[in-house]
Order: sequence, then C-alpha cells, then structure tokens
Amino acid sequence: MTLSAVLEEIGKRPGTSEMVPIFNPSVGEQIGEFADGGAAAIDEAVARARATFESGVWRGKTGSERSRILWRVADLIEERADELAELDARNGGMPVSQARSIMFASAEFFRYCAGWCTKINGIAHDVNMAGGLSGKSAEIHGYTLKEPVGVVGLITPWNGPFHVAAIKLAPALAAGCSCVLKPAEQTPLSALVMEKVLAQAGVPDGVVNIVVGHGHTAGAALAEHPDVDKISFTGSTEVGKKIVHAAAGNLKKVMLELGGKSPVLIYDDADLAQAIPAAAMGIFVHSGQGCICGSRVYVQRGIYDRVVDGIAQIARALRQGGSHDDNIDIGPVVSQKQLDRVTGYIEEGKRDGAEVVAGGNRRDRPGYFVEPTVLTQVRPDMRLVQEEIFGPVVAVTPFDDDDEVLALANDSVYGLAATAWTRDVGRAHRLAKRLDAGMVTLNCQMVWDPALPIGGHKQSGWGAEYGIDGIEAYMKTKSVYTML
Ligand code: ADP
Repeated sequence: MTLSAVLEEIGKRPGTSEMVPIFNPSVGEQIGEFADGGAAAIDEAVARARATFESGVWRGKTGSERSRILWRVADLIEERADELAELDARNGGMPVSQARSIMFASAEFFRYCAGWCTKINGIAHDVNMAGGLSGKSAEIHGYTLKEPVGVVGLITPWNGPFHVAAIKLAPALAAGCSCVLKPAEQTPLSALVMEKVLAQAGVPDGVVNIVVGHGHTAGAALAEHPDVDKISFTGSTEVGKKIVHAAAGNLKKVMLELGGKSPVLIYDDADLAQAIPAAAMGIFVHSGQGCICGSRVYVQRGIYDRVVDGIAQIARALRQGGSHDDNIDIGPVVSQKQLDRVTGYIEEGKRDGAEVVAGGNRRDRPGYFVEPTVLTQVRPDMRLVQEEIFGPVVAVTPFDDDDEVLALANDSVYGLAATAWTRDVGRAHRLAKRLDAGMVTLNCQMVWDPALPIGGHKQSGWGAEYGIDGIEAYMKTKSVYTML
C-alpha cells in the first residue's frame, strides 16, 4: 500500500470525534489524521479476540500449522519491506534504508518464533514425595502443560513502529494467544499493513485486532480491560507505572520494556578504533531514539580527551536529513514535543554548567532536527545524566578505576543495557557481572539477537522479550498430577 492509500484507510476507520493528527517529522508537516478508537473500539477488539481464543481457531491449531503461517508472515514482510519501510520512514523519520533493514530483522523475528511453535513443551516428572496429606505413599506421575495466557494487549511506541509490533505479535502468536495491538498514536501507519500481512499469511480473522488511538484513551482502556489477560508494553517508565496501576483491577499479567540510561565504559586498553565510532553511533543512530542507546559514556582518564574528541568529530560529521534524502546517516526526532524535550535537556544542562563540545542546537531547517550533541563537565545529579532524553545527546565523564566507574554506571533508576570496552578479558567479564543491566555488551554495541532475552533491571522493566523467555511470557504453566 502506498502512503496515500494507508492514510486514506486510516482516515476512514471508525472512532470517537477526537481526531489525531499524523506528521512527517522530516518536514514538520501534518500528512493526515484519524479518529481515536477510544474505549469503544478497544471493547470491540477485545471481544473479537476473546471469541477467537475461546473458539480455538488459532490456539487449537497444531504447532506445525502455526509455524507455517508465521513463516509465511516473515516471507510477506520481506516481500513488502519497501512498502513498510516507506511508511515507517515517512511517519517516524528514520532514514528509509535503515527502516528497510529493520523490516528484515522483523521478518527474522517471526521466523525465530515460528521455530518455537513445534517445540513448546512442559516437563514430565515422577512424583517422589511420599505421602502428601493422607500420609500414604502412592505412585504418581506429574507433568506440566504450557498454555497460551489468553487475550493479550500489546501497546507499542513510536521509535520502532513496525519492529516492536513484530517482536510482540510473533511470540504471542507462537504461544497461541489472541491479540489487541495499539500502536503509538504518532506512528500507526505500518500496523495497518501488518493487519493485511497477517490475514494474507493465514492468521484467522479476529485473532489480531488493531486499534489506533491515543494512549490515555485507547491505551488506558486496553490496560484496564477486565477481559484482557496480559499487557505487553514498550514505552516510557512513566506510562509503564500507569499500566501497572491500570492492570490491578483484574490482576492481569504485565510485561514492561521501559526506559534506559545505558552506560558505556571505555577503558584505556580498549581498541579505540572500534570503541569510539561504536560509542558515537550507539547514541546518535536513529537520533538517539532507541531504548538501549548508550547515553552516558564513561572514559578512563588517560584517554578521555582523545575519546571526547573522537565522538565529537563523528557528531559533527554525521549527515542529518529527511528520511528520504540521499546519503544521510540520521534523521529527525519524531515530533515537535520530542524536539522541545530534547533541546530542553540541552539548555538546562548548559545552564547547570555542562560544556557543549559538539552540536547543542536544533537545526535551522524545517522538521524536527536536533544536532548530535556531546556534553562534558556534567555531574551525576544533573537531570540529563539521570533521565532518559531519547535524543542524540551523550554525556561524557572521566573515571579512574573499576569501583568508581561501576558506582557511576549503576547510579541510575534504569538498568536496561550497559557496554564495556576493554582488551582485558577477565575485567570485561567481571564488569558484566557487576553492571546492573539486563543486557551487557562487551567490546561491541547495539547488537541483539532473537534468541537472547532482553529484560530491563530496576525501573527498565518487568519480564523479558526475545528468546524462549519471550515466548514463555505469553504462556502459563499448569501442573498435572495423575495417580498410576
Ligand atoms: P512517549 O512518552 O515516548 O511518547 P509513551 O510511553 O507515552 O512514550 O508511549 C508508548 C505507548 O504507550 C504509546 O502507544 C502510547 O499511546 C501508550 N500510552 C500512553 N499513555 C498510556 C496510558 N495511560 N495507558 C496505556 N497506554 C498509554
């Protein structure tokens, strides 16, 4: 579907009288609008999902059948990668070539989950506890059943519109759940194509239901819905806490992938030819709008000036432009609100004594562009060091030894990701143990694989996505005892 076809379709979706504008952040112009689905659309979607769950039209399929369908989803995503990339790039601002490669990663995620459909098993166990309450010993066989958790609500953010939807839908469908997906109101377009891809691949009607709308209306209605068994949410820690409160009514299960303020430690024995560009792109890629972006860089004192200078040179050299401009490295941030937020942090930092070594301003052009920005002379208590900015802004701080840098790195309410660059293998692994984060990368950055779980420590989340843990997150376990 072309951009105009998707805009036309979303414009016709029924909803409340509240219209939600859609922007192209590369030029800062509105390109369409849609009606907020609100609580009524959520009610209908949950009812449809519930009906399919109870009828067993999806969860009753064999693992092999589900697997084949999910594999087809992957093939179709690849076939439609250009079309999907076009939508996410126009609507989210990411350079279109990067958006396209993310579509292939999304397809791979479906393939990975397709593989699990035939391998979801419980355990068998001969009960060897004699007696129980009756006091008599008996021969009992036990086993566990893995069952889909039920109807799941999937709430996704704007920074990876299609990809985050894919990494939630693929395991939920592999597990046999029925779903209601609410994409971020800023970037709802590619979800409409997802709907078509799923139908084309053979996911039965009503198993995945997409509702477009605001977070405080449609999202909140989904989070508090009494007939939803689980919410899987990716977004800010602030909204994550609201979801937890909303979920309390029926004690639905909650999976949260929240904010981060990920530290990057660069030791003086690191391979700087790799570490400097990786640390730079670890924050500037996608204009810093990635949850695992390394927004705090700690550099051992002997190489501090060299590393600051290296990151600043890259910041100045990055080609920034609209999602469809030629030869660009990074695009705009997603919205005027985000632009104001990011520049607000920079301004506050300057007032508090931070030194701007590179960037520091919005770009003088239409669209929501913030220059890649390198700040030094920061203190651990500054908001820009403590809070998630979600923009191309890095704070660089010197350190002397392990204990000092670990105290600084772990001094955060977040614990999503952390990186260490050092050629000392023993130290690298000791750091991996002591860094309080759900994901640690050693001598590499911004890497992930569908098979390895990602789950935030501290206020970065609850539960994990990816890997078998990510599939089991959409399942519940039942223990069965049988007298022989
Ligand atoms: P950001 O602040 O970066 O826009 P959010 O955490 O607000 O990110 O948004 C992530 C997702 O959460 C979006 O789909 C948004 O609509 C949704 N959302 C926002 N507020 C709520 C809420 N109160 N309840 C449920 N979902 C919400």
